[in-house]
Amino acid sequence: MKQRKPIVIANWKLNGGLDLICTSVASFIGKHFAAQIAICPPYLYMRDMLTFLQYSELQIGSQNVSRYESGAYTGETSAQMLKQAGCSLCLIGHSERRAMFAENNEGCQIKVRTALNHELLPVLCVGENQQQRETNITEQVLREQLRGGLTGIDLHGKDLCIAYEPVWAIGTGLAATPAIAQEVHQFIRAELTRIFDEATANRVRILYGGSVTKSNARDLLQQADIDGLLVGGASLDPGHFVAICEQASELAEIDD
Ligand code: PEP
Repeated sequence: MKQRKPIVIANWKLNGGLDLICTSVASFIGKHFAAQIAICPPYLYMRDMLTFLQYSELQIGSQNVSRYESGAYTGETSAQMLKQAGCSLCLIGHSERRAMFAENNEGCQIKVRTALNHELLPVLCVGENQQQRETNITEQVLREQLRGGLTGIDLHGKDLCIAYEPVWAIGTGLAATPAIAQEVHQFIRAELTRIFDEATANRVRILYGGSVTKSNARDLLQQADIDGLLVGGASLDPGHFVAICEQASELAEIDD
Protein backbone atom coordinates (compact mmCIF):
# COMPACT_ATOMS: atom_id res chain seq x y z
CA MET A 1 0.00 0.00 0.00
CA LYS A 2 1.30 3.46 -0.86
CA GLN A 3 2.15 5.45 2.23
CA ARG A 4 2.80 8.73 0.46
CA LYS A 5 0.53 11.11 -1.47
CA PRO A 6 1.42 10.85 -5.19
CA ILE A 7 2.82 13.97 -6.82
CA VAL A 8 3.00 14.78 -10.54
CA ILE A 9 5.11 17.70 -11.75
CA ALA A 10 5.24 19.11 -15.28
CA ASN A 11 8.56 20.56 -16.40
CA TRP A 12 7.89 22.78 -19.41
CA LYS A 13 11.57 23.73 -19.73
CA LEU A 14 12.04 26.52 -22.31
CA ASN A 15 8.71 25.79 -23.98
CA GLY A 16 5.19 27.07 -23.91
CA GLY A 17 3.53 30.41 -24.25
CA LEU A 18 0.22 32.06 -23.49
CA ASP A 19 -1.68 29.54 -25.63
CA LEU A 20 -0.31 26.60 -23.66
CA ILE A 21 -1.05 28.35 -20.36
CA CYS A 22 -4.68 28.90 -21.37
CA THR A 23 -5.26 25.37 -22.62
CA SER A 24 -3.45 23.80 -19.66
CA VAL A 25 -5.26 25.84 -17.05
CA ALA A 26 -8.60 25.21 -18.76
CA SER A 27 -7.96 21.45 -18.49
CA PHE A 28 -7.56 21.69 -14.71
CA ILE A 29 -10.23 24.16 -13.65
CA GLY A 30 -13.12 22.48 -11.86
CA LYS A 31 -11.33 19.13 -11.56
CA HIS A 32 -10.32 17.50 -8.31
CA PHE A 33 -7.16 15.44 -8.15
CA ALA A 34 -6.27 13.27 -5.19
CA ALA A 35 -2.62 13.56 -6.23
CA GLN A 36 -0.61 16.75 -5.76
CA ILE A 37 -0.15 18.37 -9.20
CA ALA A 38 2.23 21.16 -10.18
CA ILE A 39 3.41 22.80 -13.38
CA CYS A 40 6.83 24.44 -13.72
CA PRO A 41 6.50 26.96 -16.56
CA PRO A 42 9.22 29.40 -17.67
CA TYR A 43 9.61 32.15 -15.03
CA LEU A 44 7.96 34.77 -17.20
CA TYR A 45 4.65 32.90 -17.21
CA MET A 46 4.40 32.08 -13.52
CA ARG A 47 2.38 35.14 -12.60
CA ASP A 48 -0.03 34.60 -15.50
CA MET A 49 -0.58 31.04 -14.40
CA LEU A 50 -1.00 31.95 -10.75
CA THR A 51 -3.68 34.50 -11.64
CA PHE A 52 -5.61 31.87 -13.55
CA LEU A 53 -5.13 29.23 -10.91
CA GLN A 54 -6.76 30.82 -7.93
CA TYR A 55 -9.79 28.60 -8.50
CA SER A 56 -7.86 25.40 -9.16
CA GLU A 57 -5.87 23.01 -7.00
CA LEU A 58 -2.98 23.09 -9.43
CA GLN A 59 0.28 24.39 -7.96
CA ILE A 60 3.06 26.30 -9.66
CA GLY A 61 6.69 25.32 -9.38
CA SER A 62 9.95 26.79 -10.52
CA GLN A 63 12.48 25.03 -12.77
CA ASN A 64 15.37 26.46 -10.77
CA VAL A 65 16.10 28.74 -7.81
CA SER A 66 19.00 31.02 -7.01
CA ARG A 67 21.46 29.96 -4.34
CA TYR A 68 21.60 33.64 -3.35
CA GLU A 69 19.12 35.63 -1.30
CA SER A 70 19.56 39.00 -3.01
CA GLY A 71 22.23 41.28 -4.45
CA ALA A 72 24.27 41.75 -7.61
CA TYR A 73 23.44 38.41 -9.28
CA THR A 74 22.17 39.28 -12.74
CA GLY A 75 19.56 36.91 -14.12
CA GLU A 76 18.81 35.15 -10.84
CA THR A 77 15.47 34.63 -9.04
CA SER A 78 15.50 34.04 -5.29
CA ALA A 79 13.53 31.55 -3.22
CA GLN A 80 11.90 34.41 -1.36
CA MET A 81 10.70 35.97 -4.63
CA LEU A 82 9.30 32.64 -5.79
CA LYS A 83 7.52 32.08 -2.50
CA GLN A 84 6.09 35.59 -2.49
CA ALA A 85 4.86 35.14 -6.07
CA GLY A 86 2.90 32.06 -4.96
CA CYS A 87 5.19 29.23 -6.03
CA SER A 88 4.93 25.98 -4.07
CA LEU A 89 8.03 24.05 -5.11
CA CYS A 90 11.24 24.24 -7.12
CA LEU A 91 13.30 21.80 -9.13
CA ILE A 92 16.95 21.72 -8.12
CA GLY A 93 19.85 20.19 -10.06
CA HIS A 94 17.95 19.05 -13.14
CA SER A 95 20.36 17.15 -15.38
CA GLU A 96 20.12 19.85 -18.05
CA ARG A 97 21.25 22.43 -15.50
CA ARG A 98 24.06 20.16 -14.33
CA ALA A 99 25.21 19.48 -17.91
CA MET A 100 24.71 22.89 -19.52
CA PHE A 101 24.94 25.37 -16.64
CA ALA A 102 27.66 23.72 -14.55
CA GLU A 103 25.49 23.03 -11.50
CA ASN A 104 27.23 20.81 -8.99
CA ASN A 105 26.25 18.93 -5.86
CA GLU A 106 27.54 21.62 -3.52
CA GLY A 107 25.45 24.27 -5.29
CA CYS A 108 22.42 21.98 -5.15
CA GLN A 109 22.84 21.61 -1.40
CA ILE A 110 22.83 25.39 -0.94
CA LYS A 111 19.70 25.61 -3.10
CA VAL A 112 17.93 22.86 -1.12
CA ARG A 113 18.72 24.72 2.10
CA THR A 114 17.56 28.05 0.64
CA ALA A 115 14.30 26.53 -0.64
CA LEU A 116 13.57 24.96 2.76
CA ASN A 117 14.31 28.24 4.53
CA HIS A 118 11.63 29.91 2.41
CA GLU A 119 9.11 27.08 2.64
CA LEU A 120 9.38 26.02 -0.96
CA LEU A 121 9.31 22.26 -1.48
CA PRO A 122 12.72 21.31 -2.95
CA VAL A 123 12.70 18.62 -5.66
CA LEU A 124 16.31 17.50 -5.92
CA CYS A 125 16.95 15.82 -9.28
CA VAL A 126 19.49 13.02 -9.53
CA GLY A 127 20.32 10.46 -12.19
CA GLU A 128 23.09 8.68 -14.03
CA ASN A 129 23.94 9.04 -17.71
CA GLN A 130 24.16 6.17 -20.17
CA GLN A 131 27.91 5.70 -19.84
CA GLN A 132 27.66 5.60 -16.05
CA ARG A 133 24.92 2.97 -16.24
CA GLU A 134 26.90 0.91 -18.73
CA THR A 135 29.96 0.98 -16.51
CA ASN A 136 27.91 -0.05 -13.46
CA ILE A 137 28.53 3.09 -11.43
CA THR A 138 24.87 4.16 -11.16
CA GLU A 139 24.77 3.68 -7.38
CA GLN A 140 28.05 5.51 -6.89
CA VAL A 141 26.82 8.48 -8.94
CA LEU A 142 23.50 8.63 -7.10
CA ARG A 143 25.19 8.32 -3.72
CA GLU A 144 27.45 11.28 -4.53
CA GLN A 145 24.54 13.36 -5.80
CA LEU A 146 22.39 12.58 -2.75
CA ARG A 147 25.13 13.01 -0.15
CA GLY A 148 26.49 16.11 -1.87
CA GLY A 149 23.04 17.64 -2.25
CA LEU A 150 21.69 16.78 1.19
CA THR A 151 24.48 16.60 3.72
CA GLY A 152 23.85 18.84 6.70
CA ILE A 153 20.25 19.52 5.68
CA ASP A 154 17.83 19.58 8.60
CA LEU A 155 14.45 18.24 7.52
CA HIS A 156 12.65 18.50 10.84
CA GLY A 157 9.00 19.14 10.02
CA LYS A 158 9.84 19.92 6.38
CA ASP A 159 9.16 18.07 3.15
CA LEU A 160 11.60 17.08 0.46
CA CYS A 161 11.18 15.30 -2.87
CA ILE A 162 13.82 13.50 -4.89
CA ALA A 163 13.35 13.09 -8.64
CA TYR A 164 15.20 10.13 -10.10
CA GLU A 165 15.76 11.04 -13.73
CA PRO A 166 18.15 8.74 -15.60
CA VAL A 167 19.72 11.04 -18.20
CA TRP A 168 19.47 8.31 -20.84
CA ALA A 169 15.69 8.32 -20.44
CA ILE A 170 15.10 12.08 -20.64
CA GLY A 171 13.50 13.09 -23.92
CA THR A 172 14.57 9.86 -25.64
CA GLY A 173 11.32 7.90 -25.55
CA LEU A 174 13.26 5.17 -23.70
CA ALA A 175 11.76 5.26 -20.21
CA ALA A 176 13.27 3.05 -17.53
CA THR A 177 11.20 -0.08 -17.04
CA PRO A 178 9.11 -0.04 -13.84
CA ALA A 179 11.40 -2.77 -12.44
CA ILE A 180 14.59 -0.80 -13.10
CA ALA A 181 13.06 2.39 -11.73
CA GLN A 182 11.82 0.60 -8.60
CA GLU A 183 15.25 -0.94 -8.00
CA VAL A 184 16.87 2.49 -8.14
CA HIS A 185 14.16 4.15 -6.04
CA GLN A 186 14.67 1.50 -3.39
CA PHE A 187 18.39 2.24 -3.41
CA ILE A 188 17.67 5.98 -3.10
CA ARG A 189 15.40 5.38 -0.12
CA ALA A 190 18.06 3.26 1.56
CA GLU A 191 20.58 6.02 0.96
CA LEU A 192 18.14 8.58 2.43
CA THR A 193 17.93 6.38 5.53
CA ARG A 194 21.70 6.60 5.86
CA ILE A 195 21.70 10.38 5.33
CA PHE A 196 18.71 11.11 7.60
CA ASP A 197 16.95 8.24 9.40
CA GLU A 198 14.36 5.61 8.51
CA ALA A 199 11.30 7.65 9.45
CA THR A 200 12.49 10.62 7.37
CA ALA A 201 13.42 8.41 4.41
CA ASN A 202 9.96 6.87 4.52
CA ARG A 203 8.22 10.20 4.22
CA VAL A 204 10.38 11.66 1.40
CA ARG A 205 8.60 11.24 -1.93
CA ILE A 206 10.72 9.90 -4.77
CA LEU A 207 9.52 10.78 -8.28
CA TYR A 208 10.53 9.07 -11.49
CA GLY A 209 11.21 11.19 -14.59
CA GLY A 210 12.31 10.31 -18.12
CA SER A 211 9.96 9.75 -21.09
CA VAL A 212 6.87 9.34 -18.92
CA THR A 213 3.67 9.10 -20.95
CA LYS A 214 0.07 8.21 -20.24
CA SER A 215 0.94 4.69 -21.46
CA ASN A 216 3.65 3.94 -18.88
CA ALA A 217 2.58 6.19 -15.98
CA ARG A 218 0.35 3.69 -14.22
CA ASP A 219 2.87 0.84 -14.27
CA LEU A 220 5.57 3.14 -12.92
CA LEU A 221 3.34 4.54 -10.18
CA GLN A 222 2.32 1.08 -9.06
CA GLN A 223 5.85 0.39 -7.87
CA ALA A 224 6.24 0.55 -4.10
CA ASP A 225 8.90 3.27 -4.01
CA ILE A 226 7.69 5.40 -6.92
CA ASP A 227 5.69 8.19 -5.33
CA GLY A 228 5.25 10.47 -8.28
CA LEU A 229 6.33 11.51 -11.76
CA LEU A 230 8.28 14.38 -13.29
CA VAL A 231 7.01 14.85 -16.83
CA GLY A 232 8.75 16.83 -19.57
CA GLY A 233 7.63 16.38 -23.18
CA ALA A 234 4.24 14.81 -22.43
CA SER A 235 3.30 17.73 -20.18
CA LEU A 236 3.25 20.07 -23.18
CA ASP A 237 0.05 18.36 -24.34
CA PRO A 238 -2.56 19.35 -21.73
CA GLY A 239 -4.88 16.41 -22.44
CA HIS A 240 -2.00 13.99 -22.17
CA PHE A 241 -0.76 15.54 -18.92
CA VAL A 242 -4.24 15.48 -17.38
CA ALA A 243 -4.49 11.76 -18.24
CA ILE A 244 -1.25 11.14 -16.31
CA CYS A 245 -2.52 13.18 -13.35
CA GLU A 246 -5.79 11.21 -13.36
CA GLN A 247 -3.89 7.93 -13.18
CA ALA A 248 -1.85 9.18 -10.23
CA SER A 249 -5.04 10.33 -8.52
CA GLU A 250 -6.77 7.00 -9.07
CA LEU A 251 -3.87 5.24 -7.37
CA ALA A 252 -3.97 7.75 -4.51
CA GLU A 253 -7.66 7.07 -4.06
CA ILE A 254 -7.19 3.32 -4.16
CA ASP A 255 -4.42 3.55 -1.62
CA ASP A 256 -6.43 5.78 0.69
C1 PEP B 1 12.64 16.11 -17.73
O1 PEP B 1 13.51 16.63 -18.41
O2 PEP B 1 12.49 16.47 -16.54
C2 PEP B 1 11.82 15.06 -18.31
C3 PEP B 1 11.29 14.21 -17.51
O3 PEP B 1 11.68 15.06 -19.68
P1 PEP B 1 10.89 13.99 -20.59
O4 PEP B 1 9.62 13.61 -19.87
O5 PEP B 1 10.61 14.71 -21.87
O6 PEP B 1 11.78 12.82 -20.76
